[in-house]
Order: sequence, then C-alpha cells, then structure tokens
Amino acid sequence: MGEDERFDVVVVGGGNAGFCAAHAAAERGAAVLLLEKAPAEQAGGNSFYTAGAFRFAFDRFADIADLLEPDERHADSVVPDYPESAFEHDMRRITDGRCDPVLTNVLVSRSADTVRWLAGKGVKVELYEQKPAHFSPAHKSEGFAELICSNSLKAERLDSASGLLKEEMRRMGSQLLNAAEVARVAAGGALAVDRDTFSAEVTRMVEAEPNITVHRERVEHIDESAPILVATGPLTDGALADEIGRLTGDERLHFYDAVAPIVTAESLDYEKVFAASRYDRGEADYLNCPFNKAEYEAFHAALASAERAPLHEFDAGAEQGAQPDPDAHGKKADTVTVYEGCMPIEIMAARGADTMRFGPLRPVGLMDPRTGHRPWANVQLRAENKERTLYNIVGFQTNLKWGEQKRVFSMIPGLENAEFVRYGVMHRNTFLDAPRVLSAGLCLKEHPNVFFAGQITGFEGYMESAACGLLAARNIYARLEGKELPAPPIDTMCGALIQYLTTENKHFQPMGANMGILPPLPEDQRPRDKRLRYMAVAERAVASFQQWLDENSL
Ligand SMILES: Cc1cc2nc3c(=O)[nH]c(=O)nc-3n(C[C@H](O)[C@H](O)[C@H](O)COP(=O)(O)OP(=O)(O)OC[C@H]3O[C@@H](n4cnc5c(N)ncnc54)[C@H](O)[C@@H]3O)c2cc1C
Repeated sequence: MGEDERFDVVVVGGGNAGFCAAHAAAERGAAVLLLEKAPAEQAGGNSFYTAGAFRFAFDRFADIADLLEPDERHADSVVPDYPESAFEHDMRRITDGRCDPVLTNVLVSRSADTVRWLAGKGVKVELYEQKPAHFSPAHKSEGFAELICSNSLKAERLDSASGLLKEEMRRMGSQLLNAAEVARVAAGGALAVDRDTFSAEVTRMVEAEPNITVHRERVEHIDESAPILVATGPLTDGALADEIGRLTGDERLHFYDAVAPIVTAESLDYEKVFAASRYDRGEADYLNCPFNKAEYEAFHAALASAERAPLHEFDAGAEQGAQPDPDAHGKKADTVTVYEGCMPIEIMAARGADTMRFGPLRPVGLMDPRTGHRPWANVQLRAENKERTLYNIVGFQTNLKWGEQKRVFSMIPGLENAEFVRYGVMHRNTFLDAPRVLSAGLCLKEHPNVFFAGQITGFEGYMESAACGLLAARNIYARLEGKELPAPPIDTMCGALIQYLTTENKHFQPMGANMGILPPLPEDQRPRDKRLRYMAVAERAVASFQQWLDENSL
C-alpha cells in the first residue's frame, strides 16, 4: 500500500461480515481497504475453520442446487431442508434466547440472498486475446487496454460529458479508472495517462484476478451455448467478423480512424513553443505552437496539397470523401467515410482555410508571450508520458505519407527540427448496426447469449467502451442469476448512450458521451448559464444512476 493512497471505506477484519461489507462498498464504487491480520493462507475468518460452509435458510434443496458444483448436486438425500423458522429456532437455542430479535430477523430473512450474491462474485471468465499471436494493424504491444491514438481519457469535471460518464463508471466500480490513476500524467482538467503504464496496470489487474483465465488465442467462432461477450473492437476482422456478419445478417460498415504523430520534447524549439492551458485553466499542461497569419496560410496550403498514403490492402476501396456518407451502413468498403470524431487533419484542411482555426488549431484563450497577442492559429502538444519526454500533436490524426508528415508538420512554429517518434496512420473501423440487432441488455436480439461491448457496439471512445464493458458485465451477471436488468435511466449518460444505440436510426454512427444526448431539464429548472445548466443535468444524472444501481443491486 502506498503512503499517499486514500480510501473511502476501511474494514477491519476479513471474516464473512467484513468481506461482504468490503465487497458491497466496492460494488457501489467506494475505494475499500480491508485489513486482516491472518496470513493469506488462513484468510476467511471463522469460515476458514468451517471449511467454507455457510448457514443460511432455504425451503427445498432444489432451490439451492444451482449454487453447488455439478458433482455435488445429487446431495439432496443428505442435505435436509432448513427453513427460516429452523434457522431462527437455532439462533434462540444457541444464544439461550439472548439474540436481538430485529438483528436475528435480518440475518435469517436475508441469509439466502446474501449467499446467492456472494456466489455470484465468483463468476469464472475465460478471456481470449489474440495478441501477441495476431496484431491488428493499429495494435503494437502485448498488453491489455492498449490506447492506440490519443492518450487522453478526456475531461474530469462533473459538468462535462466525459466527467459525468466517469462518475457513473466509478459508481459501477470501474477498475480501469483505478488503473488510470496509477498511470496519470498532467493534462489540465483532463485525465491523460502514460499509455504503457496504463496498459501494464490493467494487464497486471487482469492476470492477478483468480476468476479470469487468460488465453492468448484468436477467436474465430462464436459458441452460443453459454453467455459470450464479444469486445473485439473497431478493427475486428477475418473469420470472427464473418461470423458476426452471419449472426446479424449484416454486411459490415467500414469507415476510417486516424492516429496522430508523436514528437520528442527535446527536439522542440522553446524560443517559440510556450506552456499554457486555455484560459489559464489548471496547470500549464499543454505546450503551444503559435502561428502568425502568414505562417498559417503557408502551412494550410502545404497541408491541403500534401500527398496521402495509399491505404492498406484491408482498406482497399477507401474513398477519403470530404463529407461522411450517410448511407454507408450495410455497404461494402467501396463506400467508406472518414470518421468525424477522429478526422484526419489534411481532410479538415481540405474543407477550407479556416476550418482548422475553428477546430484543433483554435487560438482562443491563449496569449503568445513573445508578441503579447492571441496567435492567429495555435497547435497544442499534450504530454504523452509521465516524464514529459514525448508530446502528441493534438488533433493531428493523419493519413499523410510519413515523409510528407515530416515536411509539412515541421512548418509548425517550434517543430522545425522536431523528431517524430511515431507517425500518424489511418485504419478501418467496424461496428454493428446496433439499432437493428442489439437489445438494451447489449445482447443480440436474435441470439440472446451473444453479448457485445466496446466500440464495436457503437459506444465511441476509450471511456465509453470501458463503460459499455461494465454495463454488459452487469447484464451477463443478471442473466446468470435469472434476472433481467433494466437499462439505466435515459437521463444518465450510460442510459442515454444505450437509448441512442437501440433507437431506430437509418444513418446510425457511433456516439461518444456528450451533453446533447441527455434530456433537457424542465424549463422552469433550467439555469441560463451553460456551466450551471450542465452541472444541474449532471447532478440529476448521478442521482438517477445511483437509484438505478440501488434498485438493481447484483
Ligand atoms: C486507429 C484508431 C484510433 C483511435 N483513437 C482513439 C482515440 O484517440 N480516443 C478514443 O477515445 N478512441 C479512439 N479510437 C477508438 C478506440 O478503438 C476505442 O475507443 C477503444 O479502443 C475501443 O475499445 P474496445 O475494447 O472496444 O476495442 P480495442 O481496444 O480495440 O480492444 C479489442 C481487443 O480485442 C482483441 N481482438 C480482436 N479480435 C480478436 C479475436 N478474433 N480474438 C481474440 N482477440 C481479439 C484485440 O487484440 C484487442 O486487444 C481509435 C480507434 C482506432 C482504430
């Protein structure tokens, strides 16, 4: 335990009560510390001495048979029924009638639910990951949760869409957010991570979890005989993609995502580059490259005419249209579109001289210390690692040829001698026609044992994909317990995204968290100030989400 680690709940004693309390608190999103003096091999408190046996009430053996291992299910002849009245009688007998009647009633009447809840904690997961036997064109490392473009997990403020999503994830007990804390690098009000540390931490967590068995294998078929979760991302391809196509009756949509280049900190010209966050919000976590008008115009002209890379074989037929094709879904890759949320900078440049100045190159909230004025345009650089030795050129996803990237991006003031440690690339994206095939429980309508999570569902973005994983897991949990989980309310970020995914939409495109998809507040409760309005919407969402969690505890 690190000296500066903080916890919401500290539980002393790891017996049945302490263990259940710690688990229940963690399930509701609390950071929990459980302290137990016994060595690990004697953990479990009193249950260590009862060989793990639990006393709880049940009317018939048949009601509890599913909690037992298959080879124990024949034991009905030796396990007598134990109704609540017998449990209560035993409590009075053992304590000579001194047991508190209210507490006894809670113990007896909730005992079966508690055991069932505990049993559910032990779901065994077989996790299949194709790396390192097979890599997609964008994945490069062996670790889990590889971030392949930006290292930003976006804003943290509750009154922002990404901040609200994180709060809902925290309440679902997101482990990825814990890993992000370990890997955090400074980025103003945003959560950005050192991607290697983040991936290493997630990999460590998964491998340390005794209920997860990792298979480093490529999956090609979907076995529907038990619940299966497909979370193979936007680059899902080959036999598995064909299998999904067969199950959904869908020809896949291909469109394009692009990755931004990374430069070394030591190769920047600090006579020109200055540190500042927009409007001086938070620490000065970004480096800024200010353009004057003439520099910007020359840069724009070079960028708009720069040579683009031919697409990979798997991307063949790509058409880098300046406008997204609204009818692309259901068509083959001969009609593909550039994905708006990750649009290559050269395509933005081709849309007009000022498009970039109103997008990633906007200069608002910044002052160039050399001139004392706002620059004409500005490129921001965000630290890529904790040590701040590498910088990502924000918004510069690109499909230019690498030589062209060096030539054109070196025209950015301060990057004249920049050393590029990674050049930008562009890749295919694949996702389901969710409104047609996916239920609100994130399983296929026609194949209810086949669940989906992540970007392939149409939840767009790192955090959104992780949130989708948590939602899918809860749905699978509920299924295993014979329950049906209602979708989160639509005034929550998770609920609004699920609603978007499952609402009929001919022009369906993936969607990231944004305030626009949340229902507006009633008019008489709507603050005029945008920040206050967003905060009110976010607070309503958090309350609603917590109520959903409480009403549907698993
Ligand atoms: C080039 C590119 C850049 C992107 N940039 C950003 C960005 O900057 N910010 C952002 O928020 N989002 C970005 N995205 C979207 C990004 O993919 C998602 O946000 C997020 O990574 C999706 O998570 P996921 O878990 O659904 O899929 P992934 O992170 O792709 O994980 C899928 C995993 O499944 C494995 N796998 C795939 N097929 C099989 C198989 N048949 N058998 C076994 N294992 C398999 C893969 O190896 C991989 O580890 C980008 C996507 C691409 C393609």
